[in-house]
Formats: sequence, structure tokens, C-alpha cells
Amino acid sequence: MKVQYKPKRNLLGTIFQVEILQGMALTLRKLFSPPITRQYPDEKPPMYAGFRGQHALVRDPVTQDSKCIGCMRCVTVCPSRCIRIRCQQDAKGKQKVESYSIEVLRCVFCGFCVEVCPVGAVTMTELFEYASYDRESLLFDKETLLKNWDRFLEESAHDENYVNPFWRPRGVPEASLAASQRMKVPADWTIEGQFIGTSLRQPQQNGAITHTEADHA
Ligand code: SF4
Ligand code: SF4
Repeated sequence: MKVQYKPKRNLLGTIFQVEILQGMALTLRKLFSPPITRQYPDEKPPMYAGFRGQHALVRDPVTQDSKCIGCMRCVTVCPSRCIRIRCQQDAKGKQKVESYSIEVLRCVFCGFCVEVCPVGAVTMTELFEYASYDRESLLFDKETLLKNWDRFLEESAHDENYVNPFWRPRGVPEASLAASQRMKVPADWTIEGQFIGTSLRQPQQNGAITHTEADHA
């Protein structure tokens, strides 16, 4: 192994302290260039489509409660088994969600729960600050998840119709999607616009992209 020694200083370099002058010149240059750091927390970073932030339960504007109908699809699909729901039937036999919680420390942020929800009741927001002094506060119960939704609307430019197109089921025709997942999605997020992975794409002769059986599985 070749050992890299410090280059020998010459006499002039020692007399005039060239390294100090070089350092000061660099400082002077950077003094007049724009800053590359961000003044966090006053200045928040920009968020991009598909950002996997804190979960939230979407608040129904009419009932002011969660839109969740207790179908249990998110519980079934969650690979981390970190969603817990307790339901009860009311006097009319209607399913009522009593409690809903997500254990954030076990979540792997796959987004399956959002993708599978038929009524768009659970979503992943752009809130990213998880710092906490205890584990209990990272067990998001129903109230916390509803508050996350309120905070998300308050702190972002989105309104209550927010649908993150990134979490729409991929390769599913528009008409087959739940109504909540069809709402107000920009044109560039149609099926072709979604990222589906190159292995599932088959280029046609005219250069267009078609979908394989696997897309519809
Ligand atoms: S994002 Fe994935 S791991 Fe996290 S709660 Fe949803 S389904 Fe479970
Ligand atoms: S999939 Fe949606 S509606 Fe069904 S239990 Fe989960 S959050 Fe509620």
C-alpha cells in the first residue's frame, strides 16, 4: 500500500502562510455566494408527489368523523401488521369504527393501506416530523390521525379533496377505481403517467406502452 505523505512545505510557503491565505480567499468567495443550507424549521423543504409522510384519517366534512367504513382491507394488506381497528354495530346494524390506530414505529411506509382503501379514508400526508421523546406518542390513534389530517390541510396548499395520485392502484382502469381515487387527479397521472416499473411494460411497435397481465393482477 502506498503511503501518502503530506507534501513538504517550501520556505516561501512557510514564511507567507499560503494555506491560511488560501482558506481566507475561499471564505471571502463563499461570503458572496447564495447559501445552500435551509433555515429549518422556519424554512421547510419542498415535497414531491408520492412523499410518504405521516398517516392521516380523512375527515368527512359532513359528519366531521373519519370516512373509514371499517372494511378491514388496510389491516389485511398491511405487511407490518401495524394497523388496529375495532368496530361495533350500532342499533341499526351499521358498522361503526370505534378505534383505529397505526403503530408508526413498525410501519414500512409501503402505502398499501392507502392504495387498497375503497373510500379514500386513510392517506399519507406530507407531514414528515416524527421526533418524539417517547414511543407511545408514535402510536397514532384515531384522534391523532384525524388531527394529522387537519394539520396537513392547514399547513399545505391542499384542500379536503386531496388525493395523492401516487397511491392510486396501478394498472387499474379509471372506471374501476373507487370514486375517491378518481377525484381531481392531474392528467399526467393517468395510468400511462404512473410509474409502474419497466419489467411490467411492453413496448409496442409504434412506441406506445401497453400493460401486461401482471398490471391487472
Ligand atoms: S404504509 Fe404499509 S406498513 Fe405502513 S400502515 Fe400502511 S400498509 Fe402498513
Ligand atoms: S381500508 Fe379504508 S375504509 Fe377500510 S378499514 Fe381501512 S381505512 Fe377504513
